[in-house]
Amino acid sequence: LDLREEDLVIGRPMGEGAGGSVVKAVHRPTQTPMALKFIRVDHSIRQRILKELQILHECNSPNIVSFYGAYPKDNGVQMCMEFMDLGSFDRIYRQNGPIPVPVIGRVTFSVLQGLKYLYEELRVMHRDIKPSNILLNSVGFIKICDFGISKAMDSSIANTFVGTTSYMSPERMNGGSYTVKTDIWSLGLTLMELALGRYPLRCEGESMSLFEMLSYIKTENLPQLSDTEFPPGLCDFVAKCLIKDPAKRPDLNGLLSHSYTRESAVAKVNIEQWAASLELPDF
Ligand code: ATP
Ligand code: MG
Repeated sequence: LDLREEDLVIGRPMGEGAGGSVVKAVHRPTQTPMALKFIRVDHSIRQRILKELQILHECNSPNIVSFYGAYPKDNGVQMCMEFMDLGSFDRIYRQNGPIPVPVIGRVTFSVLQGLKYLYEELRVMHRDIKPSNILLNSVGFIKICDFGISKAMDSSIANTFVGTTSYMSPERMNGGSYTVKTDIWSLGLTLMELALGRYPLRCEGESMSLFEMLSYIKTENLPQLSDTEFPPGLCDFVAKCLIKDPAKRPDLNGLLSHSYTRESAVAKVNIEQWAASLELPDF
């Protein structure tokens, strides 16, 4: 796809995060709907970022949002990606309540497959797993987006985005380096949030500083999913993701061989049908 800015018909804004804003668009020549994400970046490193983003063209997984291209725009870059018509899981549970247990199994399996692809094929970690970065479409696909592909983007001063604090693992808050285990922690919190229909920790909010958040996570007993309300397999899976010591927390392969993952992989869940039952405003 030869993407030219003048071929895009800009539509409605879909949301704004710490890192940028997203609008809907249609690529006129092919009538392809797209989601355009604008990210502010320093002018001096813009070309380097655009070059780093090129490897996304080789990214091809049913559990990762497709990349169509990127170009410089104003004081940043515009990334054009696959439009997921039902949006992100935070939006879905806010409008429709907690995500049904069988669907959570599907989300778990899809995110793990997406992470496996990122680690093995692209050799990158995700770094920002959370409900707003897990998307659903009405065909029934569940895909992850917004992973940290660009080193230049990370170091960009104009870009304040460093991964959302509320989903950050204890070792990462401590200033430790990013490892695969960090994504696992974020996945645990995310699954718990989908099951409960709310952010699971009591220390929610922008009001809490990194320091306060860290001491909370280090010292408090974190909430767990109750196995009277949820399947024991899911409860155990989440508890393992949320082991505070990264050395004791399972890695991706550990989770892929967990009984909950294996059950979720073969469970028959009609995501398309569930998706059709959701009440969501149009983008
Ligand atoms: P952060 O900036 O920390 O990633 P965020 O994920 O909430 O936070 P954005 O990534 O800017 O913010 O996304 C804003 C909203 O746009 C998301 O909540 C999601 O609902 C929607 N969105 C993002 N990408 C897509 C896409 N490809 N298709 C459909 N909706 C999307
Ligand atoms: Mg996002």
